Amino acid sequence: MAFTLEMFPHIYKSKFNGQTWDETFVEKEHKSYEEEKAMEESEKEALLLGRNNFSDLPLVNYTTQYGMGCFEGLKAFPQKNGGIKLFRPDENVKRMKKSMEGLMMPPVEEDRLLQGILKMVKLNADSGFAIPYDAAWEKDDYLSGHALYVRPFSYAEPGIGVNLSYFPWVIVVATPVGSYFEVGGTNDAVTTDMVRATKNGTGWIKCDSNYVIPTLAKKKAIADGFMEAIFLDAEEHRYIEEGSSCNFFCLMKDGTLVTPELGDTILPGITRKSILQLAQDRGIKTEERKLSVEEVFADGAECFVSGTAAGLTPINSLTHLGQKKVFSESGTGKVSEALLVELKGIQYGAIEDRYDWMWSV
Ligand SMILES: *Cc1c(COP(=O)(O)O)cnc(C)c1O
Repeated sequence: MAFTLEMFPHIYKSKFNGQTWDETFVEKEHKSYEEEKAMEESEKEALLLGRNNFSDLPLVNYTTQYGMGCFEGLKAFPQKNGGIKLFRPDENVKRMKKSMEGLMMPPVEEDRLLQGILKMVKLNADSGFAIPYDAAWEKDDYLSGHALYVRPFSYAEPGIGVNLSYFPWVIVVATPVGSYFEVGGTNDAVTTDMVRATKNGTGWIKCDSNYVIPTLAKKKAIADGFMEAIFLDAEEHRYIEEGSSCNFFCLMKDGTLVTPELGDTILPGITRKSILQLAQDRGIKTEERKLSVEEVFADGAECFVSGTAAGLTPINSLTHLGQKKVFSESGTGKVSEALLVELKGIQYGAIEDRYDWMWSV
């Protein structure tokens, strides 16, 4: 299971009325979580379809027609010692606000949305909709761990002419997720000649439209036998920018951890920022700068991608213009592994949360 739309029944829904945000918590039809799990497929499908259906949301609007929308993705983790905690949700609401400003929409109020997210996860948990903690995940350092994926997104008012959204909705839904990439799989990546983002464009915004090209590139990569497409800069086609929806890291042979510097073509990942912090704490030298494919081929020792969905996923090999550079035949490099174990440990409450990254619901 990667992403299935087993949407939980409590949904946060707010709408900008010109002055402020009108908030509601919608409770869609549901049985108990256990009963739903045991339901027959077709019956369950109807229930889940109904849950994803809002009769007051317009079919034709600036989001469905022109991709004028943005979103966030964050996770709530069941804790080793009980309870549920979200990973850095304050950062996600901050970025949501920036994205909305980038799309010239009235931005959300950070604290209001943050409280809405926390309450929505709690309402679901109080109705029995929560991911149960499983001690078996400890055996592989939470690589097989499940979590609740929380998805805030904007949705525009009705309209068919090309326009900005002045009265958007912001909705937050939640759905269970397992690991994004196959556990223990070999992750071969390939550079793509498609362009995800250009200077003075929207690459820095977590907007809907930025996902069109990465989806096409990733599908092509998969058809060619790879797991992930790696995007290069638009101008020289030489410097690594991102994966299809995740940030890129390379540990050089001299022990320096390098990730492409932020700019208007790179999405400022919260996982990226967290990994840089964890690496520095281990005494690893980190650099945010341009990183060429040639350099990675010549001096790269370990590579990985990072993101809320991807977590920290090793890249075992990178292929560029028919040349293949293998970092590790199987499994994860030592430094990547240590960072992965620490990040997951903090998220599941097995390692002390020394930065107060985790928020209780
Ligand atoms: C969301 C996203 C990421 C990862 O960001 P996180 O905050 O770590 O989840 C990286 N790249 C792109 C293009 C993204 O949309």
